[in-house]
Amino acid sequence: MAVKKPDASVTTDEQWGRVRGRLRAEFGEAAYNSWLQPLSLDSVSDGRVTMHAPTRFMREWIVSRYADRIRALWRGEDPKINAIDIAVRAKGAVAVARDETPPATVAPAARAGSYAARGPAPAVERNFTGALDLRYNFDNFVVGKSNEFAHAAAQRVANADEVPFNPLFIYGGVGLGKTHLMHGIAWEIRRRDPTRRVIYLSAEKFMYQFIRALRFKDTMAFKEQFRSVDVLMIDDVQFISGKGSTQEEFFHTFNALVDQNRQLVITGDRSPSGLDGMEERLRSRLGCGLVADIHPTDYELRLGILESKIEQLGAQTMPRRVLEFLAHRITSNIRELEGALNRVVAHATLVGRPVTLETTQELLQDLLRANDRRISIEDIQKRVAEHFNIRVADMHSARRARAVARPRQVAMYLAKQLTSRSLPEIGRKFGGRDHTTVMHAVKKVEQLSKSDAEFAEDVELLRRMIES
Ligand code: ADP
Ligand code: MG
Repeated sequence: MAVKKPDASVTTDEQWGRVRGRLRAEFGEAAYNSWLQPLSLDSVSDGRVTMHAPTRFMREWIVSRYADRIRALWRGEDPKINAIDIAVRAKGAVAVARDETPPATVAPAARAGSYAARGPAPAVERNFTGALDLRYNFDNFVVGKSNEFAHAAAQRVANADEVPFNPLFIYGGVGLGKTHLMHGIAWEIRRRDPTRRVIYLSAEKFMYQFIRALRFKDTMAFKEQFRSVDVLMIDDVQFISGKGSTQEEFFHTFNALVDQNRQLVITGDRSPSGLDGMEERLRSRLGCGLVADIHPTDYELRLGILESKIEQLGAQTMPRRVLEFLAHRITSNIRELEGALNRVVAHATLVGRPVTLETTQELLQDLLRANDRRISIEDIQKRVAEHFNIRVADMHSARRARAVARPRQVAMYLAKQLTSRSLPEIGRKFGGRDHTTVMHAVKKVEQLSKSDAEFAEDVELLRRMIES
């Protein structure tokens, strides 16, 4: 019987072919052609698959959207695979996907300063400052109503000579800029005084390091590393909820640093008091400095961020209509908004054609649907009609009787609050009413909510029902 000679490259190519086939089937032709088709395979070795994308935008997009699935599919082909790498390579040249060396103005000084003044940095510093992302600094953080307080607090911490409040606790929903602000503080502190030791790490990493130290019976070194820093930043602290021993260790580290008057900056997805699964004493410790929240974005901020990103991308011409469209429609969070913009820009670069509203809509179909699916005006009308026991048709009708006019106003108010639609758009959905009618409705409901507690409760109840 003839023994088939194993041919690694053929097998790898076959595997890659199958992975691509699955990706195409799962994500559809459009997404596949825009994003996954341009991805090329470089090598598979030591459990690591290396691929590359033609541009930085493409890479970022692929990493944020598809990396998990690509990894899973590769593992399906070969269970030994445990990591995938996606690099950027345009026209044969190798480029670094993400610039990991700090900027010249900050880094050499920072290195020289801290090493000369204090001897070699402890391992932990080398490990963790590497996690700082250059793209996240104060210069490119766009300030709006929803984040101005958190931003001001962050600036204060970054520019203070003495610890102004401890800890600074920043919280808010996903993708709203918590990590960005935190990195901004770190860069600014290092720029002002390169000898200060700043450590940034996720709570997850903190826990991982701690567990490893336990396993290797090296907890002393672990403790020392953290306790010798000037500024400690822990991102996404909710991660250690319910993790008893890590919380305990964190609590001690926290107290030791506060006692020595070192700055702590913490982020979480909820306010300290809302962190279930967190020990009471830790919760109260977390809340005893300054607590700053970041709210969901509004249209102006979204537009501002898009404009700033376009400027950073440099020399991109993007019709204003497209930016406005994106700001109106991608309302979930800033990460998604950026992703949408990157996709549009990358597509334009790829096909070499200018961006139009039509291509944008086509390219972002999935995202737009997901954002719209959240809450539609029709949905609001239906729920409100049910609640007040009137017909949905009365949302559009010209009837002015209080019994239908009031619910209609509530629905308009909720449409304004819960969707990204403009006043004229909302008016149109309510039987072609004028935008001033909608504005009046919003004011009226606000007034009534103040003077009539029962009414306010009703509106709040409806809002929660619709949002859930
Ligand atoms: P979080 O940590 O709250 O989940 P991130 O800080 O990771 O959110 O932000 C998500 C993305 O949105 C990042 O790419 C970040 O640069 C960007 N971003 C968030 N807020 C702003 C802002 N105000 N200005 C510019 N970019 C922002
Ligand atoms: Mg974050």
